[in-house]
Amino acid sequence: MKRCWLTLGRKDHISELDASATPGWRGGAARARKQTDGLRDQLLGLQERLFAESRQKLLVVLQAMDTGGKDGTIRRVFSGVNPNGIRVARFGRPSELELAHDYLWRAHARVPERGQIVIFNRSHYEDVLVVRVNSLVPEQTWRRRYAHIRDFERMLVDEGTTILKFYLHIDRDEQRERLQARLDEPSKNWKFDEHDLVQRRKWDDYMLAFEDAIRETHTDEAPWYIIPANRKWFRDWAVMSILVDALGRMDPQYPKPDFDPGSIRVE
Ligand code: AMP
Ligand code: MG
Repeated sequence: MKRCWLTLGRKDHISELDASATPGWRGGAARARKQTDGLRDQLLGLQERLFAESRQKLLVVLQAMDTGGKDGTIRRVFSGVNPNGIRVARFGRPSELELAHDYLWRAHARVPERGQIVIFNRSHYEDVLVVRVNSLVPEQTWRRRYAHIRDFERMLVDEGTTILKFYLHIDRDEQRERLQARLDEPSKNWKFDEHDLVQRRKWDDYMLAFEDAIRETHTDEAPWYIIPANRKWFRDWAVMSILVDALGRMDPQYPKPDFDPGSIRVE
């Protein structure tokens, strides 16, 4: 997979990126799904060792427009992973208690413990996305947050957390189809939120907000990956590939026993 496509070049605009592209992949959907299944077996093994080792931590941040596929990605990529070592943290509209604190408080409270993988379904980035686009705080307030976020993430990395941030990129037409499906298919009605239609009208503002957020907070320690996500099979394969690659580099090991197993017999 070409890394360059997945990061935002200085002159790139997110709105100009092809959300149906499949960079790094040659072949069809069926083969991609098969390879994703194979990679999942690797993921399961790596996650087991991460948990047993109980030393390193992995934080996966998922951001996308409404219907962008955050829930589906979590379901497909992490299915079968030992639930003891994994946690999903959702970030919805902040509660009274959350609003009474600084915006990073609720994120910090949910970062992974040793041996854990935590997936942020939305994240502290909402505070420079939905908050910015809807003018929930003054501009000078959200602008300062890029630096806070860089520092916050750097601190987590310094203290032993690996951070991967994914922006799942769909285009406006794809969102129309997916929102419409939530109305047309009874089993999807529960996902429909009229608020999403209001946000949809601000599409261009969101693209700009994502672009700025990614540019301002893409660092070597906590990189962003831009995943073309119109095609779910490609999205799943790309996220899975990056994840398995990262876990492979973390190279978790089963802890060495501090006893001699051969010298003990269970009666
Ligand atoms: P969902 O992901 O469908 O459960 O929706 C969660 C909603 O909460 C989305 O509309 C988000 O934009 C919204 N949300 C998340 N974080 C914040 C925040 N910090 N301020 C305002 N709205 C937020
Ligand atoms: Mg929603």
